[in-house]
Amino acid sequence: MIRGVILTIVALALIALISFGSLQSACAADTPSSTAASGHFDADVATAAYLATMTPAARARSDAYFEGGYWLMLWDFVIGLLLAWALLGWRFSARMRDFAARLTRFRWAQTALYAIQYFILTTVVTLPWAAYEGYVREHQYGMSNQGLADWLGDEAKGLVIALIFGTLAAVAIYAVIRKLPKTWWLWGSAVAIGLLIFQVAISPTYLEPVFNKFYPLAESPLKQRILSLARANGIPVDQVYEFDASKQTTKMSAHVSGMAGTAQISLNDNLMNRASPEEVEAVLGHEMGHYVLNHAYKGALALGVLVVIGFAFMSWAFGRVTLKFGERWGFRDVGDVAGLPLLVALFSVYVFALTPLFNTITRSMEAEADAFGLNAARQPDGAAQAALHLAEYRKMQPGAIEEVIFFDHPSGWNRIHRAMVWKAENLSAADIAGYDALHHPPGVSR
Ligand SMILES: [Zn+2]
Repeated sequence: MIRGVILTIVALALIALISFGSLQSACAADTPSSTAASGHFDADVATAAYLATMTPAARARSDAYFEGGYWLMLWDFVIGLLLAWALLGWRFSARMRDFAARLTRFRWAQTALYAIQYFILTTVVTLPWAAYEGYVREHQYGMSNQGLADWLGDEAKGLVIALIFGTLAAVAIYAVIRKLPKTWWLWGSAVAIGLLIFQVAISPTYLEPVFNKFYPLAESPLKQRILSLARANGIPVDQVYEFDASKQTTKMSAHVSGMAGTAQISLNDNLMNRASPEEVEAVLGHEMGHYVLNHAYKGALALGVLVVIGFAFMSWAFGRVTLKFGERWGFRDVGDVAGLPLLVALFSVYVFALTPLFNTITRSMEAEADAFGLNAARQPDGAAQAALHLAEYRKMQPGAIEEVIFFDHPSGWNRIHRAMVWKAENLSAADIAGYDALHHPPGVSR
């Protein structure tokens, strides 16, 4: 029975991999290296012209920031493992379990009390590293103007949210483990995925407003064009929201959120203040693409398959490691909450090893949203300008393998090149031919 389930999951995973692989090659296939120039316009030349607007210094800085991120991923992983090893090896974890057991005799409440200690302790211990990564480094690269007190306040809010959701998840998953000790990995992953979807679903209404203020975007012709674009693509909204991300970051962003027939279009104030109108339209066209193409559901499905496999790995590896070290660390079976740091460490090994796959799944969907956005918004130069702005913090032109491993969005070069290929193929349309790049130079503010 279990073997059958595992085989089915592996087959599903392979299908997912193959279909995402073919998505990727389809994306690669529609960007021929020597684009046929339509008349006087050459996509390669236009792409090079956009890239040339970035100074070598800006390019070096963006490369350094992004490549530094590769190392951060490694250190995040190593620090997580060291922390788990310290909690287990020095028997902090066993002591936290014993403390919870002294306070209550209910097993679910012991799990909750353990989880609360676990989240507070791990957050406090890793705070200096989090401060370097999220505060010091962001300021070094000019990505943030946020004050330290404000940043700490956001961290505290994040901890409260982690405490609520993390404790809920721990209680639910340990209840499953104790009820179904043999097949918990299957049902436990279903619980985890359910909670994840729940969190995504309530995020726009209940979580995002905890960190930022959302308000209706001021009336303008641009706002009317955004609403028109939404109506044209069947997105049920009659308002566009802006939020004050500039208090945390200088990065531009937007999203179209919502599930099951609801939608909300939100764009951050950096995008409104720094981007040209055609750039805003291009970005919103891309975000609407995520909504129309059901990327939230497809992403949840792909993630679901990977989480099930990850839980199966966790279950298998937990047994092996516990045979060897369980006695020393003070627990014997997976139903003992003192083993939580080991479960977390094993899952992080799995996620770390699959980073290129996770990135490729996301990057494929981002490329789809790009294509949708170009067709919907018809702003290839706006898309190129957006790619230039994003290149402030994302390496513009990585190697092919580097892009597969580390990029969760297509690189700036790829995005500009695809936009220019789209433009070359649409030059016979009046709106595209009539676009006057001289009056809308790239990267210019409104
Ligand atoms: Zn996107």
